[in-house]
Amino acid sequence: MTDQPAIVIRDLVKRYTPAKGGEAKLALKGVSFDVPQGQIFGLLGPNGAGKSTLINILAGTVTKTSGTAEIWGFDIDKDRRNAKRAIGIVPQEIVFDPFFTPFEVLENQGGYYGISKPLRRSMELLRDVHLADKANATARTLSGGMKRRLLVAKAMVHSPPVLVLDEPTAGVDVELRRQLWQLVSEMNREGVTVVLTTHYLEEAEALCDRIAIINHGELIADKPTRDLVGMAREKLVVLTLDRDVGEMPSHPAFLKCESKGERVIEITYDKDRSNAGEVMSLVQAQGYAIVDVTTREADLEDVFVKLTSEPAGA
Ligand code: ADP
Ligand code: MG
Repeated sequence: MTDQPAIVIRDLVKRYTPAKGGEAKLALKGVSFDVPQGQIFGLLGPNGAGKSTLINILAGTVTKTSGTAEIWGFDIDKDRRNAKRAIGIVPQEIVFDPFFTPFEVLENQGGYYGISKPLRRSMELLRDVHLADKANATARTLSGGMKRRLLVAKAMVHSPPVLVLDEPTAGVDVELRRQLWQLVSEMNREGVTVVLTTHYLEEAEALCDRIAIINHGELIADKPTRDLVGMAREKLVVLTLDRDVGEMPSHPAFLKCESKGERVIEITYDKDRSNAGEVMSLVQAQGYAIVDVTTREADLEDVFVKLTSEPAGA
């Protein structure tokens, strides 16, 4: 494939309709985005946003209501077989037969994909995920972290160009989280396009080249991480002044100046272009004395809150 996107999603809608009565749930409300080849792409959103629904549609375990999806140029309806071969998925829930050994788990998966024995690379994959010494242990004796890594190896058995991990680090400890980040980065360096869902902002920021944010089944952002973090370049200073504010102080260095009460103003500025001291001097130069001051740095959390608190359709 040339430089087509690894995944193309258009107007994807999913309505869960309960078997008997009950209310239908619109989990995806017409989502469109591309995952560029060769990247680590983060699908970020709070619990219930629709991340797993979207991943499971790609995996073929959830049937979409409408819209289209292509994986590596293959439409998931018209070319299901090729689309499936182009993607490896590590589901959110850890499930596999506890009585097989890691080596057997990978051999079975290879068989499922019709890979002949001599062409299977189970040991190599176990080495990749640092489980070679556990090849013949029974799966149920593996720690949670080892199980996650085994699932990554299982997803890679058929050497797909795209690896998707659904919340790989939800509820895992710091050490394991670091291991998984490292593993994901290694896979990506070897040319695999990686998509991961997460509700951890710092994870997406640390790991991903590009981040899409989904909330209540709607896409609310889709940007290079750098740009999204750029939105967090703002800093806030809240000033209590000695008297009521008539005309708002203004200056080219201020991005925004808002009244927060009769004598309180909140000034937003670009931390690359100004600083709290300068902001205060500028206000003082306009004839106010400053009685109190607090400052706050915006971070990705603020960007997220800002984006997700906007009413739907705004
Ligand atoms: P996320 O992975 O972002 O936490 P999900 O895709 O799991 O979100 O869920 C999105 C919404 O769809 C939630 O409101 C969830 O309750 C609902 N949902 C998920 N699976 C089902 C299902 N099988 N039947 C009905 N509703 C579902
Ligand atoms: Mg989920």
